[in-house]
Amino acid sequence: MELFKPMGSSEEPASNKKELEVSEHLKCLILGSGPAGYTAAIYAARANLSPVMYTGMQMGGQLTTTTEVDNFPGYPDGTDGTAMMEDLKKQAERFGTQVRFGMATRVDFSGKVKQVVIDDNKLIEADSVILATGATAKYLGLESEEKFKGYGVSACATCDGFFYKDKVVAVVGGGDTAAEEATYLAGICKKVYLVVRRDELRASKAMQKRVFNTKNIDVLWKHQTKEVLGDQVVNGVELYINKGEAGEKLVTKEIDGFFLAIGHTPNSEIFKEYLDTDEVGYVQTIPGSTRTKVPGVFACGDLQDKTYRQAVTAAGTGCMAALDAERYLGEME
Ligand code: FAD
Ligand code: NAP
Repeated sequence: MELFKPMGSSEEPASNKKELEVSEHLKCLILGSGPAGYTAAIYAARANLSPVMYTGMQMGGQLTTTTEVDNFPGYPDGTDGTAMMEDLKKQAERFGTQVRFGMATRVDFSGKVKQVVIDDNKLIEADSVILATGATAKYLGLESEEKFKGYGVSACATCDGFFYKDKVVAVVGGGDTAAEEATYLAGICKKVYLVVRRDELRASKAMQKRVFNTKNIDVLWKHQTKEVLGDQVVNGVELYINKGEAGEKLVTKEIDGFFLAIGHTPNSEIFKEYLDTDEVGYVQTIPGSTRTKVPGVFACGDLQDKTYRQAVTAAGTGCMAALDAERYLGEME
């Protein structure tokens, strides 16, 4: 089997090119430690697949960036995202999963035995690989936005909308996600500003119609965010109108919540050479399963789900991935 080709050009650091010796051979390797990865680990460990998980840079995944999780079944009083992920980790370890800190930096899925390099310096072989590397919500990149993450700034209306009951919120974006999040929030909140940087929406006509027919959505055309305002929590937003054009000016709106809906980036870059992805980068799986086009490689969670993107659905597909891997390994034997 061919060992790792440099992913980019010949300009790559020499350390990436050196040949690595195989350090171990696993039955089941799991990449990613969000709800999908940990659930896959629980099932794989209980099926005696002796799974090893590499957590990536964000141990626990996206939920560690939020304070309250109110919609994951089994927590009648809600729970803290980080605490919940710590529980999932303990549960995966209880059945023998080895959880290791490290990041897959390249893969070779061309052979029956899969190869994965961790942190550019450790080569692992595995009979099956479960990909659970998630997706990352895009943010505007403002310092104030970073400061209030979890304190009024969110990238998930379904997750956090409930905390803004009868309050005023802003949603940034003009695509289907923004339209959907704005109409969802309009059912909970007193008022929703939809902050759109152009003078038209990118969203489908059907979604646009829903936005325009919802009385408490106020579309702010040609507005762009300058700063999110607040003290401990968000209390306003400063917006440019006609930024960079004649008549540019600044306005301030009082808001309690600031929602980003400007897209997600699936963490699929290193897999693209071997797997099918859609135009955004979501890994494509065979419908009704977590199988990818490469036998022995399974994808679960937000990495392959652009529709639901919830912890419980990620966990559900994590379970599916472990069961699919177990079946695949059984057939191999
Ligand atoms: P993620 O949670 O995204 O985890 C991905 C994992 O992959 C991480 O551990 C990362 O370190 C790892 N990784 C990435 N690249 C690599 C690599 N190359 N090698 C190894 N590992 C890698 N959902 C709800 O159901 N309820 C909520 O209340 C809720 N609140 C949310 C609040 C916020 C602020 C956000 C951003 C999301 C929220 N969500 C919520 C959505 C939920 O967090 C996601 O749907 C869920 O975490 C997806 O799980 P996942 O396991 O697919 O991926
Ligand atoms: P999207 O279609 O890429 O739209 C992103 C939106 O965010 C665009 O309106 C874009 O503005 C805006 N934006 C991007 N960067 C910005 C910035 N820095 N500042 C301000 N605005 C910014 O993403 P999406 O809405 O998440 O949708 C992704 C895909 O999923 C699409 O194919 C969509 O159809 C699909 N989807 C479908 C449904 C549904 O059918 N119910 C629901 C959700 C998503 P511009 O328009 O100016 O570029």
